[in-house]
Amino acid sequence: MIAVYPGSFDPITLGHVDIIQRVCGLYDQVIVLVAESEQKESLFSIQERLQLVRDSLVHLPKVKVDSHRGLTVDYVRQVGAKVIVRGLRAVVDFEYEVGMANLNRKLAPEIETVLVFASPDYYFVSSRAVKELARNGGRLDGLVSNLVATSMQKKWKKV
Ligand code: ADP
Repeated sequence: MIAVYPGSFDPITLGHVDIIQRVCGLYDQVIVLVAESEQKESLFSIQERLQLVRDSLVHLPKVKVDSHRGLTVDYVRQVGAKVIVRGLRAVVDFEYEVGMANLNRKLAPEIETVLVFASPDYYFVSSRAVKELARNGGRLDGLVSNLVATSMQKKWKKV
């Protein structure tokens, strides 16, 4: 069975990696789908985000990395998957994820959204927070990989 884990991954954090690793134990293949959104301003280009995701997941043979512009459910159908994985941190994630899950169910009733709880080590880690930390010269160990940390620091010319 194939699971698709969609997100912006701007950039990928160790919280994302943890979810992906754990989900690999449940499915035959996990496709990490980097969303190309016209609405969301991203720090990293789609090519940069894809590269950072690929580099962070080389140790996971079940993982495939892809990008998509448009509805996630269209992509999920295209690859013959039945599961969308999303991560859940605090209560604030819940409302957004319930909305997305129900919208996607309306569009594609045959596809299930599976919510995976963040590990305690990462429940406070978000792409937005790590960008804020990096911009202000904060320590990033334990939050993102060294490669992601260096790439963010380069964006703000702190290397
Ligand atoms: P989006 O912009 O679509 O919300 P993100 O790249 O921010 O995408 O996150 C993708 C998914 O991973 C979302 O379901 C999000 O809640 C989840 N996620 C983000 N950070 C973490 C974390 N630290 N632990 C667990 N899940 C997370």
